[in-house]
Amino acid sequence: MRRVYLDNAATTAVDGDVLAAMLPYFAKHYGNAASLHSFGQDARQAVEDARQQIASFIGARTEEIIFTGGGTESDNLALKGVASALKTRGKHIITSSIEHHAVSETCGFLEQEGYRVTYLPVDQYGLVDPDGVQKAIEAETIIISIMHANNEIGTIQPIAEIGRIARERGICFHTDAVQTLGHIPVKVNDLNVDMLSASAHKLYGPKGVGILYVRKGTRIDPIMHGGEQERKRRPSTQNVPAVVGFGRAVQLASLRMAEENEIIAGLRDRFIKELTAKIENCRLNGHPSQRLPNNVNISIEYVEGESLILSLDMEGIACSTGSACSSARLEPSHVLMAIGCPHELAHGSLRFSLGRQTTDDDLDYVLDILPAIVTRLRKMSPLYKKGDQVTSR
Ligand code: PLP
Repeated sequence: MRRVYLDNAATTAVDGDVLAAMLPYFAKHYGNAASLHSFGQDARQAVEDARQQIASFIGARTEEIIFTGGGTESDNLALKGVASALKTRGKHIITSSIEHHAVSETCGFLEQEGYRVTYLPVDQYGLVDPDGVQKAIEAETIIISIMHANNEIGTIQPIAEIGRIARERGICFHTDAVQTLGHIPVKVNDLNVDMLSASAHKLYGPKGVGILYVRKGTRIDPIMHGGEQERKRRPSTQNVPAVVGFGRAVQLASLRMAEENEIIAGLRDRFIKELTAKIENCRLNGHPSQRLPNNVNISIEYVEGESLILSLDMEGIACSTGSACSSARLEPSHVLMAIGCPHELAHGSLRFSLGRQTTDDDLDYVLDILPAIVTRLRKMSPLYKKGDQVTSR
């Protein structure tokens, strides 16, 4: 059976070059990067080379990069670390209502610890209004965290503008760039950010390794305690092969990103156009142009996202949904709810995320299979039979 992977926002395949760069660090150069002997020095050199590659890719200094165990840990460290360091200055945090759970659940935890959190609304495309950020700032605000691009609907936020506002008011500004690093330009100075989270497995690197960029001078406490690794900001023996893989993945992205983006965005646009033409009562979620080059998120009326995923999987096609059941939560996606998507449409949502390996043929295959699946599922839908119209936008 043909297999088509369109879930690259969930994770990507490790690039062959990345894997080759990592392999010697499992059983040949296996030293602990903190050890003084030559085994340790080899490992340390590899970690520092990767730090340099990543720092130069985002326009940072090497000492501003902290290696972590992934995007979730980076988000936790950013928010809890600053909240702890600045707790005597204030206890107010600003974020958006469409953040990844790595940010929103951390904010929820901080609320239990006595911090107050403002969750800014977004417009119908998922955009945060910089004026709204400005208005939400209080004397007690210590950190603003707004994601660079949304993982479900792909909307890219006006981060540079929000960063300018935060800087004018002297407030630490964090962005979750897990979905953007390696996909669109990410330069910490252009974006006016003080902290930035990223994760290797979203850009053809290994799982379980991330970075937190922390601008020099930013006050942050560690959230784990132990050794002195990562300048005492993140203890634990560095995962050398993964760190090396992250560095190589970033190097490849710096060589290929611009060209790849153009190709992937072209595929995305054709796919959106043909999908919405071939399937009636189907609409695009997210911003029409300010969106990630690889993201297609649609809602299809009168069908369940979960049934669509299972039917597509039987045809070898992998994608994801913001529908309640498949995401193991009771409510449909908080992102789709925040953009005002009616429940019925949120339940029939599909996210296709394209990747380096995606071809026109792959998309033609989906364009061939999906309309037939929708027709079959709709035949079983009492709503569709009644012809009950759910308002389309
Ligand atoms: N933030 C965003 C926007 C994400 O999309 C993800 C993963 O899907 C994460 C954070 C968490 O990253 P990780 O899987 O590396 O913990």
